[in-house]
Amino acid sequence: MPSYDPQNIFAKILRDELPCYKVYEDDKVFAFLDIMPRAPGHTLVLPKSPARNVLDVDPDDLAAVSKVAQKIAKAAMTVFNADGITVQQFNEGAGGQVVFHLHVHVIPRKAGVAMKPAASEKEKPEVLAGHAAKLAAALKG
Ligand code: 5GP
Repeated sequence: MPSYDPQNIFAKILRDELPCYKVYEDDKVFAFLDIMPRAPGHTLVLPKSPARNVLDVDPDDLAAVSKVAQKIAKAAMTVFNADGITVQQFNEGAGGQVVFHLHVHVIPRKAGVAMKPAASEKEKPEVLAGHAAKLAAALKG
C-alpha cells in the first residue's frame, strides 16, 4: 500500500490551508460537509492523525471516528428530517477511495430518494453554510 501523502486535500483542510464547512471537532476527530453531497447534509468524518484509510489507521482513532459518525447520524436524522442514514467508507482506489485521508461518509436519506452519483455536482456555498451551521448547532445542543 502507498504511504500517506500529507498533500492530500483533506490533510490541507485539517491544517486549515483550505476552507471547509465545519460541523464538529474534538481532540481526535474533525467533520465537515462534502462539497459535492450525494444528499443534503452529506458529512465526512476524519481522524485528525494521518491515516490513509482503514488499513493503516490507529484502532483508537477509528473508534473515535465511529463514535462521532454515530453522533452525526443521530443529529442529522432530526436536522435534515431524514428517514434513514447511509454510512460509507472506501479503502484504496480499488475500494472506491478517491481522497487518501481516512473518512467516513454520513449521508442523510429520504425514503424513495436516490443518492446523487458520487462527486457529481458542487452544492451552492450558501446552502452548505446553512446546513453546516444547523448540524453544528444540533451537535452542540
Ligand atoms: P472517497 O475518497 O470516499 O471516494 O470520496 C471523497 C469525497 O470527497 C467525495 O464524496 C467528494 O465529493 C469529496 N470531496 C472532494 N473534494 C472535496 C473538497 O475539496 N472538499 C470537500 N469538503 N469534499 C471534497
